[in-house]
Amino acid sequence: MTVVVETIAETRALLDKEREAGHRIGFVPTMGYLHEGHASLMRAARMHNDVVVVSIFVNPLQFGPTEDLAAYPRDLVRDLEVCERERVDVVFHPSANEMYPDPNPFTVTVGEIGAKLCGRSRPSHFDGVVTVVSGPCRAYFGQKDAQQLLVIRRLARALDFPVEVVGCPIVREPDGLAMSSRNVYLTPDERRSALVLKAALDEAAAAIEQGERDGRRIADAMAARISSEPLARLDYAACVDPETLEEIGTLRGSALLAVAARFGSARLIDNLTVTL
Ligand code: AMP
Repeated sequence: MTVVVETIAETRALLDKEREAGHRIGFVPTMGYLHEGHASLMRAARMHNDVVVVSIFVNPLQFGPTEDLAAYPRDLVRDLEVCERERVDVVFHPSANEMYPDPNPFTVTVGEIGAKLCGRSRPSHFDGVVTVVSGPCRAYFGQKDAQQLLVIRRLARALDFPVEVVGCPIVREPDGLAMSSRNVYLTPDERRSALVLKAALDEAAAAIEQGERDGRRIADAMAARISSEPLARLDYAACVDPETLEEIGTLRGSALLAVAARFGSARLIDNLTVTL
């Protein structure tokens, strides 16, 4: 049975009791409108913990002033069915007022690493992300949001949180499109066009396989491939160090290939890590 809890105090009391009993807690933070990507995180959490907690909260701090906060898809009834099916113990579903009673909430600023890639077009996004995560547990995040995963890992280390951050692989549709709650915004034509993201990543990986080592050329080729798609508006295409997100000059070791583009009103991201 999945229980739904709406307050921080109740969640804390419940989890404190579990911790006292020696139970390990697996935490999966989400913005809801759950899909297979989210379910894969729940399964990983289920496998390695005694108690699985999923948060469903469309975090206003993660949206910029021109972003899709009001329109972000929501379906709590269906989300709870998914949680029930994945044997989630607790769903934490707070209101914005419960999370941020103070109109000027205390936030944590993540610094340089938050300003790269997605941070360029979403300036306060990562400050919003880190402000939600705290408490002793294992926390599960998708590699889909590679920069978020990196920021959270850094945060846990920097502030010495008793949180073990676990990264999980990207779950894709059968045709390769990375699953995202935002995919529902896509018209059929945009849905077809969105495949260009994965195609650009795969072609870059193939070029690297063939011996390409110039990071700039790899990034430019991905950008050109995405821009060649009439319904895509490129945000960025980057070939960066997976730890620092610094642009790579000459490839050695591993690289994070990361892309973002808009298709109609949906801003979609995807990435691939290559290791030589
Ligand atoms: P969101 O609800 O979009 O904020 O995502 C919540 C968590 O699910 C984040 O850790 C995401 O990285 C993860 N996630 C979202 N989509 C996918 C996907 N296609 N594959 C794996 N994890 C995902």
